Amino acid sequence: MVASKSMKEITQAAWAKRPLIISGPCSAETEVQVIQTAVQLQETGKVDIMRAGIWKPRTRPGSFEGIGTKGLAWLQKARDITGIPVAVEVATAKQVEDALHFDVDVLWIGARTTVNPFSVQDVADALRGVDVPVLIKNPINPDLELWIGAVERVSKAGIKQIGLIHRGFSSYGNTEYRNAPMWHLAIEMKRRHPGMLFINDPSHICGRRDILQEVAQTAIDLDFDGLIIESHIDPDKAWSDAKQQITPAKLGELVSSIRWRNEDVASEEYHAALEKLRQQINQLDDELMQIISERMKISEKIGQYKKDNNITILQTNRWNAILERAFRKGDKLGLSQEFITKYFDAVHMESINHQNKVMNS
Ligand code: PEP
Ligand code: MN
Repeated sequence: MVASKSMKEITQAAWAKRPLIISGPCSAETEVQVIQTAVQLQETGKVDIMRAGIWKPRTRPGSFEGIGTKGLAWLQKARDITGIPVAVEVATAKQVEDALHFDVDVLWIGARTTVNPFSVQDVADALRGVDVPVLIKNPINPDLELWIGAVERVSKAGIKQIGLIHRGFSSYGNTEYRNAPMWHLAIEMKRRHPGMLFINDPSHICGRRDILQEVAQTAIDLDFDGLIIESHIDPDKAWSDAKQQITPAKLGELVSSIRWRNEDVASEEYHAALEKLRQQINQLDDELMQIISERMKISEKIGQYKKDNNITILQTNRWNAILERAFRKGDKLGLSQEFITKYFDAVHMESINHQNKVMNS
């Protein structure tokens, strides 16, 4: 039996470890499944915290909605056997109470809860006066303010150890991923919370096994502090999220295959070389902005002509021609169609705004 004080210390050490690896089933299903998963994860030697969903927020009723409170006792047992701290998702005050009653070491707030300030507040109020680390997943929709709001609510409740989990965002017509990573949002969240533990969840981003490694590597290259990846003793038979789960052994292989990066290195030569290249980039960025500003001035002149002749700002044929030309040129210059589209969309919108000012002044 692992004493609860030392479990706290183990959890603290896990929280501070880099990279931090969290793994375990999407859902606790049976006592045997929970214990076997825990033991197999321990055997890999790669896992710092074990996760398991006890209450599952499902899109439609009737699908498996989690084993409920009795699963917490299985997790306690698994932890006593392996010494690995456990984490569960909480979405209501009652769930917080139950999880704490069973000494769960780490709590996380799921994506479907982060979207709802009422629910987050309910969970935060239940956490008042409690000393437990809390991980907060991004909301299902790409709204950074909601995610930040959840961090603020939990922080105001007095929770000192808060971490972030990036699990991707639901988006219409998305096929490659279950939840689009939208890495730029994760990068912005990280920028706004320097020093806060930042974990990536490739399982819920990918929704499938075959691209987990690739997404995990991207996250590590973007300086995430760790990974949360679902694992199951018999993934295909999992009661939830079967397609994205992997066996503990595969989890061990995946973690071993990641190329871990350093954020910095104490080499003067490296820093000098990097500084030189960064200056070149700053120089080019300045020139780019200068050129774009000149482009806007020409655009304003066109706006004046359109105004004088009472012509619409948007001319679809011209816009199509610009894009096609840019795709052809971009391709030769090694710029992706995705980038060209985003870049020209932004430039075009800025140009429309400039013309709008001229035409309606
Ligand atoms: C989960 O971690 O099993 C889960 C429900 O994830 P999310 O909240 O990211 O959908
Ligand atoms: Mn899941």
